[in-house]
Amino acid sequence: MPNFALNDDVFFRAAEQFPTPFHLYDEAGIRERARKLNSAFSWCRDFKEYFAVKALPNPAILRILKEEGCGLDCSSATELTLAKVCGFSGEEIILSANAMPPEEFAQARALNAFINLDDISDIELLRTHGGIPECVCLRYNPGGQFSIGNTIMGNPGEAKYGFMPSQLKEGLKQLKALGAKSFGLHAFLSSNTTDNNYYPSLAKALLTLGKELEAEQGIRFAFVDLSGGIGIPYRPEQPETDVQAVGEGVRKVYEEIIPDGSVAIKTELGRWMTGPVGWLVTHAVHEKKIYRDYIGTDASAVNLMRPAMYGAYHHITVCGKRDLPADHVYDVTGSLCENNDKFAIQRELPEINIGDLLVIHDTGAHGYSMGYNYNGRTRSAEILHTEADGFRMIRRAETAADYFATLDIDPAGAELTKR
Ligand SMILES: *Cc1c(COP(=O)(O)O)cnc(C)c1O
Repeated sequence: MPNFALNDDVFFRAAEQFPTPFHLYDEAGIRERARKLNSAFSWCRDFKEYFAVKALPNPAILRILKEEGCGLDCSSATELTLAKVCGFSGEEIILSANAMPPEEFAQARALNAFINLDDISDIELLRTHGGIPECVCLRYNPGGQFSIGNTIMGNPGEAKYGFMPSQLKEGLKQLKALGAKSFGLHAFLSSNTTDNNYYPSLAKALLTLGKELEAEQGIRFAFVDLSGGIGIPYRPEQPETDVQAVGEGVRKVYEEIIPDGSVAIKTELGRWMTGPVGWLVTHAVHEKKIYRDYIGTDASAVNLMRPAMYGAYHHITVCGKRDLPADHVYDVTGSLCENNDKFAIQRELPEINIGDLLVIHDTGAHGYSMGYNYNGRTRSAEILHTEADGFRMIRRAETAADYFATLDIDPAGAELTKR
């Protein structure tokens, strides 16, 4: 079930104060989720969540997560800079990316961040760009299919990420020769899964492999990084991940394999942390009846790309009409010249009138951040619903001037301003 923690009044009040569309994030909800996760892993002597910045790269949000004890998982120079300006440093940061520009290794080393290497060739790049640190993390790709019981959870054999098992051995040999003292193991084998057994199965595989590699290569096994992947119920009928049960499941395998408690646990959740505590708020601005009934909104895939990109389901609430019967069927769309610019397809909803306020659920992760500027559309504002029940704009909406900022054209006079 999506998150209905905020009542319609909150969205109505926000829409009085700020023009739509905007993403609204709930501070109390973010803090509550961070606390739930930390509590589920409180049995572990050294646990830390490194929030995946790409999911919601807003400084106000990152600072809230810092207050809740989280670090950051960064995947680019810009995200590293964001981490730095938000006050994160050293072991509070992990750099994890693929086909990484070498300068980004150097930047991460200058911050003394953990570095998660994606390929064996990265070892030489890291040596020449910042140097090999004492502790290095390696991303593991087991190949084939990743299953829990009879269920296929992911297809690592087709994924571009990580070291093959034989490369892990060779990599650790090289890293040890270059002065590394310890290592971590990382893997991301299933995305958006609400199966409570995902993390425990992954932890078991990584802890077992890490112990083997430690014994064989004579280099200390310092941590596992379970990465992201814990999912959220986008659809009303979907179950919620029980994060307490996930923590207990990991504890069981951990205590068996690491009885002395010497291996730290890191996670890099994005979606689970902030997905359900963000909403895209938009007005119905157009109605069209042809072969289907369409409701046009003032938002588009520019603000939320997941439906267009993956056919993803996002629940929609019509504010003030929650209790009315869902006796109309609509395609709810944006204005882009792309027929996939639809937030909902053949969705049963209460009757929608022009001017109605619509709330699109679960946009707190991979929502705003996936945005783009197709059709010359600009990205929206981001609003924080504070713990004190007020609102704070934490990112203004883009204007045409932002769109033109990378060009030689002055939008006011359409004149050349540079050169
Ligand atoms: C995207 C990503 C995450 C976060 O994934 P979620 O599905 O949002 O939990 C974590 N780690 C890495 C390396 C990623 O690429």
